[in-house]
Amino acid sequence: MPKVLVADKINEKGVEVLEGSAEVVNDPTITPEDLLKTIDQYEGIIVRSRTKVTREVIENAKNLKIIARAGVGVDNIDVEAATEHGILVVNAPQSTSITVAEHAMGLMLSLSRKIAIADASVKSGKWEKSKFMGMELRNKTLGVIGMGRIGSQVVKRSKAFEMDVIVYDPYITEETAKELGVEITTLDDLIQKADVMTIHVPLTPETKGLISKEQLAKMKDNAIILNCARGGIINEEDLYEALKERPELKAGLDVFENEPLEDSPLTTLDNVVLTPHIAASTKEAQRDAAIIVAKEVKQVISGETPSNVLNMPLVDSETFQALKPYFKLTEQLGKVLVQTSSQNISELNIVYSGEINGRSKEPLTRELLKAFLNPILSEPVNSVNAKSVAKQRGIKITEGETEDSGRYDATIKATAKYDNKETTIEGIVENNIPKIISIDGYDVNLILEGLMAMIKYVDVPGTIGTIGNVLGNHRINIGEMQVGRESAGGEAVMVLKVDQEITQEAITDLEGIEEIEVVKSIKL
Ligand code: NAD
Repeated sequence: MPKVLVADKINEKGVEVLEGSAEVVNDPTITPEDLLKTIDQYEGIIVRSRTKVTREVIENAKNLKIIARAGVGVDNIDVEAATEHGILVVNAPQSTSITVAEHAMGLMLSLSRKIAIADASVKSGKWEKSKFMGMELRNKTLGVIGMGRIGSQVVKRSKAFEMDVIVYDPYITEETAKELGVEITTLDDLIQKADVMTIHVPLTPETKGLISKEQLAKMKDNAIILNCARGGIINEEDLYEALKERPELKAGLDVFENEPLEDSPLTTLDNVVLTPHIAASTKEAQRDAAIIVAKEVKQVISGETPSNVLNMPLVDSETFQALKPYFKLTEQLGKVLVQTSSQNISELNIVYSGEINGRSKEPLTRELLKAFLNPILSEPVNSVNAKSVAKQRGIKITEGETEDSGRYDATIKATAKYDNKETTIEGIVENNIPKIISIDGYDVNLILEGLMAMIKYVDVPGTIGTIGNVLGNHRINIGEMQVGRESAGGEAVMVLKVDQEITQEAITDLEGIEEIEVVKSIKL
């Protein structure tokens, strides 16, 4: 029977799943030295966060087929080394969603009914009934920022409390919103309308400081703000100032900019409830994680394909070699597409032409999807799970081939459809360098790298100069510029390479120019 090592303490239900299919060695205190010495005996290993599955361990793991993390993050596993050695890495990202959603509900109630502070008062020997007047949740507006796995579970639960839900998540489709019965709105509108605001987005450059002084100032007087996602999404210093100045404002936090929380002025406030990053800590979540990954291990050692795989080679090596020059191009196209058309994508169409036709282009499509989805999701999207993640998010993927590659060896054209609009970009590889050759049908020719921008405008005399002046005023230097246009006086598109990042202030100024329709900053 294949041997599976359980190297950290996991719920026994997980071990039970494997009984009969594998010889399970339960050694939750195994030392790194012993792991290195014995790993070659095993076809599967299950860990939580204590055991480090390093490159050295993987290099010694001659029989290993699968590394399973009974939880979400895989920081303790060298995924790259595992991929190189053809070993699958799986996790259980869905195991904590309900647990975290329940914690958010707990913080919500604790603040709306002042439970934590009333508890402290009673325990200090007081009976201050009139001090703890609460607020009902019924008919209140819940603003959910981030409608992924956890956000949608919070929505489900808030409906039982008869709350009205509004959502800010620019990456979900109208269809998904309809299915979930929620109203989609802007961040600004949500902040102004919400009685309770709860954050469930990943920490990304885009979400860092998403809620800062300016946003906090717009919140309703009596509002509650919750963060069970990641520290840093709310600016903690700004939050402290807002809570100090406005005692009716309330906050519930499970996550912090620096953990463990030390010497934080937040601990001195009555209108805040703090928990030590425990939103995901329940026996049920741990049990579910153990069961989910044990099932994955069972599938792999029986020769089946598991579902939460974070890595996996997909095609034979000959096809892989033929596609190899195009991986960087598809990655860059995915990144450009998400940054130029980021709202409610409902369909993604990819058309290949030229020398890559006639063979599976699955890995390229997945590479594009991976680059497209990764900036907006909290869990790593990889070439294996990219398609199913896209499907879960209601994005329809279509692929095609065309004979005509023009004067190029091959072209890849990707179109994102959203609302009633679409954005199309087309790229090629020249001397191993990925280039963009058209955007929305307008010809351009630029290497896809570094800092770029796309500006759509009406082609009237002086506009190009005005754009240059605005960027100059913001001390942004243009390295290269390409312009494509329909006809004189018609719509035109400009693609720029810039030496400094295009700031939000510069974008706002550009958007203020009458002839300019769209400004997108692109970082590759
Ligand atoms: P998810 O990937 O399923 O969902 C994230 C959602 O955020 C997606 O719907 C995405 O479209 C949306 N999003 C991305 N960027 C956005 C932006 N700029 N504005 C608005 N929406 C945006 O993730 P999940 O599993 O629901 O996790 C949500 C958060 O909870 C993550 O930050 C995760 O790390 C955190 N988390 C915390 C704990 C804890 O112990 N406190 C446990 C698990 C997860």
